[in-house]
Amino acid sequence: MSGAATHRQWLVAGRPIGRALSQADFQLAEAPVRAPGDGEVLLQTLYLAFDPAQKSWMENVATYRDPVELGSVMPGRGVGRVLASRHPGFVAGDVVHGEFGWQERPLASGDDLAKVPGGVPATVSLGVLGTTGKTAYLGLANVGKPKPGDTLVISGAAGATGSVVGQLGKIAGCRVIGIAGGPRKCAWLTEELGFDGAIDYKAEKVRSRLRELCPAGIDVMWDNVGGELLNDALARLAPGARVVICGGISRYNFDARDPAQMPPGPRNYFNVVFTGATIQGFLMNHFEAQYPLAEARLLAWVRAGRVKYSEHISEGFENAPAALMGLFEGDNLGKQLLRVAD
Ligand code: NAP
Repeated sequence: MSGAATHRQWLVAGRPIGRALSQADFQLAEAPVRAPGDGEVLLQTLYLAFDPAQKSWMENVATYRDPVELGSVMPGRGVGRVLASRHPGFVAGDVVHGEFGWQERPLASGDDLAKVPGGVPATVSLGVLGTTGKTAYLGLANVGKPKPGDTLVISGAAGATGSVVGQLGKIAGCRVIGIAGGPRKCAWLTEELGFDGAIDYKAEKVRSRLRELCPAGIDVMWDNVGGELLNDALARLAPGARVVICGGISRYNFDARDPAQMPPGPRNYFNVVFTGATIQGFLMNHFEAQYPLAEARLLAWVRAGRVKYSEHISEGFENAPAALMGLFEGDNLGKQLLRVAD
């Protein structure tokens, strides 16, 4: 025994293509804690954040990222405390956020880290001010283009991204309808976040509820889910509607390369002809130049209490795979996080 300090890491052990994630896709390992070199920072991970897209990163289907090797540290974002720094921007004790993977004492390049803003809890850097908040702001502003009086419908509405999209829609003067799984999530949308209506897609007929709740049609459809929910929304588009394709979680367990596995495309797509609607994909990374603007606006709204957020915080580093898998079961209300240390 050398006596050198070690820390735990979760490694990628499987490629979950065409199937759901399983615990066997992850391997818990021990690695030495390393001292920072020039420009590097040693961190104590405090929180990890989870996004359904991490499954696609493991499959190597996300073309906007470098491939993930089997046996490498599971990629992901987190908040950490600086233990030692050889980067001029950070000193021990700083609390930072960045993509440093599922590990307890990561070594990161200081250039890839940012300090968490003051006056708000550190975790908001992972949710409402992080990728999900920025996705909501940038996708709505650049693709959804809401106008006062528009009807905005959101699938996956009680998740991290959808819940922010809806509140930004209210700020923009829209009528906002959320689609989410279960009465608790729907009540949160209408009673806490100010949505004008909510549809429990697990218990209600979405198509007829959309007819009731959107009598003049849907002007902006924000889709996190795809499949039948998108199909139902396409049947209700208003003239000139904008459909923002942000996510498609209902299809993430299918193998996109296998036509036999993939569900057919939306049957109601031809309605875009009658309505002159636009269906447009959105990827946050394409709007990097606007990150500072998005972060500043979101921070101001959070500080003013105009944008609220919920965090679903699991506990313990060993539960990281379960936290990611829970997104596909709808375990989370708002942003799924994991507390690793205090
Ligand atoms: P999230 O919405 O917080 O969590 C996922 C939610 O999806 C679950 O809570 C669950 O809610 C719902 N869900 C799971 N399986 C479903 C199914 N089969 N049908 C319907 N709903 C299902 O996750 P997020 O991080 O905010 O991400 C939301 C979506 O945006 C994801 O598709 C993600 O990949 C995408 N995204 C895209 C970008 C981009 O740049 N384009 C950036 C970030 C995220 P229910 O209980 O309501 O079912």
